[in-house]
Amino acid sequence: MITINEHYLKLQASYLFSDIAKRVAAFQEQNPEIEIIKLGIGDVTRPLPRACIDAFHKAVEEMASEASFRGYGPEQGYAFLREAIAANDFQARGADIQADEIFVSDGAKCDTGNIQELFSQDIKIAIPDPVYPVYLDTNVMAGRTGAYVDGRYQGIVYLDSTKENNFVPALPREKVDLIYLCFPNNPTGSTISTAELKTWVDYAREHQALILFDAAYEIFIRDQSLPHTIYEIEGAKEVAIEFRSYSKSAGFTGTRCAYTVIPKECTAYDRNGGRQPLHSLWNRRHCTKFNGVSYPVQRAAEAVYSEEGKTQTRELADYYLHNAASVRRAMQDLGFFFVGGENSPYVWINGGRDSWDFFDMLLNKAGVVCTPGAGFGRCGNGYIRISAFNSHEKVEKAMKRLKDALS
Ligand SMILES: *Cc1c(COP(=O)(O)O)cnc(C)c1O
Repeated sequence: MITINEHYLKLQASYLFSDIAKRVAAFQEQNPEIEIIKLGIGDVTRPLPRACIDAFHKAVEEMASEASFRGYGPEQGYAFLREAIAANDFQARGADIQADEIFVSDGAKCDTGNIQELFSQDIKIAIPDPVYPVYLDTNVMAGRTGAYVDGRYQGIVYLDSTKENNFVPALPREKVDLIYLCFPNNPTGSTISTAELKTWVDYAREHQALILFDAAYEIFIRDQSLPHTIYEIEGAKEVAIEFRSYSKSAGFTGTRCAYTVIPKECTAYDRNGGRQPLHSLWNRRHCTKFNGVSYPVQRAAEAVYSEEGKTQTRELADYYLHNAASVRRAMQDLGFFFVGGENSPYVWINGGRDSWDFFDMLLNKAGVVCTPGAGFGRCGNGYIRISAFNSHEKVEKAMKRLKDALS
């Protein structure tokens, strides 16, 4: 008899986006004349930067002739891309990361989901609330949690991100082994200061723990004082893995390219307390289960680091940040409490009522779709997330409608 991995049965069906779609469809049916404006999804809307498109085309052409054709590439990624990443994203910020510590992949979602394979079953895991659901669900699938009771999985240490802590969770009171952090944050748009991030690095060093740092929204950082990478923090190389993606930074959500950094010094422990480098374990996993990102896509990603690519990706992020600023102004005028939207494409807004009630109000009174915060965890209740990923015109129109309807 073929039996299943029963841990999958603990997973909570995610009704979030299907519930949203149902409510939107019902509203549209009753109000066919209203143009609904969607500020819910976490997907980009602008096309790829010209520099990426040109590099992409050129590389596709190379595949058309025998002399320049490429078959399987290195599983970890081509040297041209890994070197550009190390130099531009790390060394240029004073973080001593080398090209051979970079693993190019087809997504930060896969990497943040797959990384837990390297760790034993009985570790204690700390996960923020609200959160990007991948961190939690992949550990449920792996059997590292108990049942789902009262909105939370047993065995997980939840790190509450609330108004009281400015959406940067406090260090856990109990000892944990694996810590997931994401800054600038999805869904709250909050950021972490160098001093705050250092307390996490110090905690990890003191407790032989590991930090998984998701920096998928790094491109949106404008505040000069904020860290762009966890490796700007002294001592982080031994205790942190960082995830990056071209999805939000260069519009690659449909093109697929990302990378994970595992410094050579970064270790976890075997049963005897011996230090084991995670670089070699991940290298083994990556080479066994993954065959590399396509050559044209890696050339397109490399172009992000050309002079034109740098200018164009910055302009792309600025485009969305302009929208985020419009959302912030509107929420300020309406008198709602909010965070985010300054170094992030997301604004996290408290409506003083249940998340879904707030969602329904925005939909019914203004034809605007957001994401109810409760869908990201218990601490998200009372909040909604508004995304800046849309055109200037649509965001302006949506904010005007909200102000007309609610003020
Ligand atoms: C969008 C996003 C990513 C990027 O995922 P890809 O698989 O690279 O598209 C990673 N982490 C968070 C928190 C995100 O919101």
